[in-house]
Parts: sequence; structure tokens; C-alpha cells
Amino acid sequence: PQDDAVARWRADFPLLRESVHGKPLVYLDNAATTHKPQAVIEAEAAFYRHDNSNVHRGVHALSQRATDRYEAAREKVRQFINAASVQEIVFVRGTTEAINLVAQSYARVRLGPDDNVVISAMEHHSNIVPWQMACAQTGAELRVVPINDAGELDLDMVERLIGPGTKLVAVTHLSNALGTIAPVKRIIEIAHAHHVPVLLDGAQAIAHLGVDVRALDADFYAFSGHKIYGPTGIGVLYGKAVLLEAMPPYQVGGDMIRSVTFGQTEYNELPYKFEAGTPNIAGAIALGEALDYVAALGLDAIAAHEHALLEYATAQAGAISGLKIVGTARDKASILSFTLDGVHPHDIGTILDHDGVAIRAGHHCAMPVMQRFGIAGTARASFALYNTRAEVDALVAALARVQEMFQR
Ligand code: PMP
Repeated sequence: PQDDAVARWRADFPLLRESVHGKPLVYLDNAATTHKPQAVIEAEAAFYRHDNSNVHRGVHALSQRATDRYEAAREKVRQFINAASVQEIVFVRGTTEAINLVAQSYARVRLGPDDNVVISAMEHHSNIVPWQMACAQTGAELRVVPINDAGELDLDMVERLIGPGTKLVAVTHLSNALGTIAPVKRIIEIAHAHHVPVLLDGAQAIAHLGVDVRALDADFYAFSGHKIYGPTGIGVLYGKAVLLEAMPPYQVGGDMIRSVTFGQTEYNELPYKFEAGTPNIAGAIALGEALDYVAALGLDAIAAHEHALLEYATAQAGAISGLKIVGTARDKASILSFTLDGVHPHDIGTILDHDGVAIRAGHHCAMPVMQRFGIAGTARASFALYNTRAEVDALVAALARVQEMFQR
């Protein structure tokens, strides 16, 4: 896309017109959360203004309307990730809840002391701790596929770590700490050759890579609305219907039942079996709007723009002496993680903030990645569709000032 196209995209996001500390906001913390276009903010407000009601319950018009909108959002998600059926789209709170659901309702009931779950060395804590807990509950083992110095997964080790006791492979599609795009299609082929299903943590990937769960043949796919220009508190678990059918509910209560007596309960059909209680109706509808927004711009155009920005930022930052990029995989997207000699990442973040430049500093909820590289943390700039080359220049200029301060 041309600069003027990006300028038009940018104008859709009211928050980007804010200033901080008297400086124009340069928001480069998109891996933590993205800002929302006007259409998404409006969709959420419009629900409360015009359609607010509970879903799947009422016979009255408003409840019917709320239900229709909520279910239409589910269909938008289905299309966006190319799932076979809306039965396979479960609305949850976010990636974290989606992974916990699979860890407890799929893994825990299958794992025993001779079994294992395979993850990778570049996982976010939310794709580590749920498996750790399921393993602790069952006596199973957590196996970790290592990464190389560039932050790339060792595919041979995927093959070697999967054994007869492997019940699930769970890997990130795109690392939030390194920017590495994992070779997930290959991982799924390897796992499936051993009849092992695969969960992909799509928290980062969803906004940057086109996701086609059927082309990937992914068994589970988890993502959060807030990382793709939608609201917080809403996310998606995709699961193949055959797997979801065989799983017990994760939480129980209203909406997920067909009939209840004190003697026994019959569960509702998919996907409602996994949606206990009143869901985040407005959030789901606004997420649907966010997916429409991204689809209208075109994920290919967005990805091309972000890729160009990442290459530009990599070249500019790479020229700063004492700056080391952490995560130099051949396949990368949207994330530039780095350290600066002699400066703590938190100091970088704080000084940049004074210049209006928002980045993330720390371990990025991926402490094992930091341990792998022998560092306490990194500074991380992460790009979204509305970022510009001028913002990369602002980042680089601010980093130069950080260096001056610390060299004096
Ligand atoms: N996995 C990855 C790779 C992430 O980047 C994040 C968010 N930082 C999560 C999982 C967790 O997402 P959420 O906090 O929205 O549940």
C-alpha cells in the first residue's frame, strides 16, 4: 500500500490522535494490544444503544436481535479463519482461556504418567503454564522443542520429541517475544504422522498472517480479539468438531445445557457446550466488526506494509552501535525485539515514553525465551497496520538519545 493508503487507515483510529507528555503518540506496542478503529468502537456502543439483550433465551424481539448479531459474529469468525462450521467456533475470553480450556478438557482427561505434551522454547506463558498444570495433575511430562540462536524452531527435535505417549503438540504460530513465524504446517504434518493433534497459539499471528485452519489442518487454534483491533475480553477457540464433541465442558452452568434435573444434566450441542453463562455479546459483535475491517483492507496488503516496516526498522536499528536484535529468524513478522549495551530495557522504555514512543520492555510473558538468550528482558517494538516509516524514524531518533544519555 502507498503512504496515503496507510494515512487513510490510520485516520480510522481515534486514539492515534492522542498525545502523551506533549508529544504525538508513536504507538509501537501492538503485540500487547492493538487500538480500535471507529467502526469497532461504534459496533460495541451500538449494541448497548439499540440491541442490548441476553442471547439464546428470550422470545422477545430484542433478544432475538441480540442472538442474531452474536451468531452472525460467529459466522464472521468462521469465514475469517476458514473453519468448516460455526459449531467449531467457541467464544471465550481470549487466547489464555482458550488454551486453558483445551488443557483441561482435552489434555487432562487423556494424560497419564507415561504421556507427554510437546511445546516449544518460544512460548508465551499462557501456552506453557496450562500444560504444566495438566501435566502436574496427571503425572505426565512436558517436553520442549528447542530454538536456535536466531530463534528458529528445531524441526528435527519436533520429530524426535513426539513419541507414543504424546497426546498433544501446542506451539505458537508467531512468537510475541522474537517475531519468529513457526513452520506450523510442517509441525502439523509431523504430528499428524504420529496421530497427535496440534494446538496453535494464534494470539500474534491472527492480525499479521492469513490463517486458514483447514489449509493448515490445525486441530485447535486460539486467538484474542484485542490483538486484531477488536475489544478485550473476547477471543476464540477453534476446534475440529470431532475433537470438541468428545470433550467434556470446561465450565458449567447456564446456556451450556439442554436439560437439567438434580439427577443429571444433558449438555447442549456445539459450540454452546463450551459457552457457560452469559457471554461477552457486545465484544463478540465488535470482534466481528474488527474482522470485517481487516478483511476489507486486505490481510495481504496489511502484511506487506508491516513487512516493509519491519525490514526498514531492522535496518535502521541494526545500524545503532551496541544494539542487538534478539530474534533473527528468516521468517519473521511485525516484531523487533532488541537489547542496547549497558542500558536496562526498562530504562529504554521509560526514556522513549518521554518522547511519546510506546514500546514494551521486559520478558514479554516469555521468561524461558529470555533465559534461552541469557538476558533479563528486551525492548520490543511491534507494528500494526497503522504504523508509518516516520514512526520508525521517531523510534530510532529516541534510541539515539537513550544512547547519548548513557554514554555521557
Ligand atoms: N500467546 C501469545 C503469543 C501472546 O502474545 C499473548 C498475549 N501477549 C497470549 C498468548 C495471551 O493472550 P491474552 O492475554 O489475550 O489471553
